[in-house]
Amino acid sequence: MKLTIPDYIQAIEPYVPGKPIEALEREYGIQNSVKLASNENPLGPSPMALAAIRNGLTRLHRYPDGAGHLLTHKLAEACGVAPENVVIGNGSDDIIALLVRALVRPGDQVVVPQPSFLMYTITASAAGAVVESVPLKSMVMDLDAMVGRVTADTRLVFICNPNNPTGTVVTQKAFDRFMARLPDGVVVVVDEAYIEFARNADCLKTGRPSDVDRPVVTLRTFSKAYGLAGLRVGYGIMPAMLAEVLHRIRQPFNVNALAQAAAVAALDDRAFLHRTLDLVHRGLDALYAGLEGLGLTYFKSEANFFLIDVGQPADIVFENMLRQGVIVRSMRAYGFPDYIRINVGLENENRRFLEALETVLAK
Ligand code: PMP
Repeated sequence: MKLTIPDYIQAIEPYVPGKPIEALEREYGIQNSVKLASNENPLGPSPMALAAIRNGLTRLHRYPDGAGHLLTHKLAEACGVAPENVVIGNGSDDIIALLVRALVRPGDQVVVPQPSFLMYTITASAAGAVVESVPLKSMVMDLDAMVGRVTADTRLVFICNPNNPTGTVVTQKAFDRFMARLPDGVVVVVDEAYIEFARNADCLKTGRPSDVDRPVVTLRTFSKAYGLAGLRVGYGIMPAMLAEVLHRIRQPFNVNALAQAAAVAALDDRAFLHRTLDLVHRGLDALYAGLEGLGLTYFKSEANFFLIDVGQPADIVFENMLRQGVIVRSMRAYGFPDYIRINVGLENENRRFLEALETVLAK
């Protein structure tokens, strides 16, 4: 069989997701493992979302609402924008793919921070884009340098706030300076997958009514603070002109019926969101204290995850932690060969992580 694959597709390094717990337990012969590798919500899904899913089960013979009417309207109201400014997707990954497909031709340029969420580079590369990676400065996204790399060929700039994997944020002031220098014809994507967790009052937050009058797209997701990663729902807030283009090229039923119902219910479950934020903030502080006790360097974060310098190859620490039943993420693929990333778990999971790390590093 002969396949003709474009060079720019052949060159893509596959995204390596955190493996499912079941797969790792099988491979390593372990049980009752703790997964802190994919920035998921350790509390599980919102109970109100679960009830909505149960309710929706008997209608699974029907197609979903292709317009996502209820969810779109609810999100628009929550953000103070018009429903025409909202596009829902099969995870925010879906919106990233739609934006790239709508705006980027082979040879066009896309500016991304480095290191950051790998799907920006993968998706842009798959469209034949030239990806300009701009290094972070002291772990923070360098918006001045990023706008400095914009050329006449640039179509998209990705900002991740808080940034995965560093957990750092950009300020409103830095963003305003960036926007003032941004030439016409460039769309800025501000990925706020973790924005609910940010405690820093100076943290930029977009997706407001004033943002949809300029070329700014805000991405949010139900996968993290709302605990619905397995269901796949995300959304973008953007100028109506751009939303209209995305609607033309998206799959007609890109968000399934249960996902729509669950997301609508999750937005009403304020108690669950508060419990989640409280757990994550207390967990972060407890983990920081535990790591200080172990004399380790870590990086304070505005998200539900953070980086730890383990002072030795992270791939080895990852393997040894697995044998202790704790799943972490090695940051080698992100250019931090000695760092691991963990997300906050339940209290007992955080304790188990600290104990396992102490054991592994003592060896
Ligand atoms: N953006 C960032 C920064 C992420 O970390 C992730 C998930 N790891 C996503 C987007 C994708 O989220 P979703 O589940 O909504 O596709």
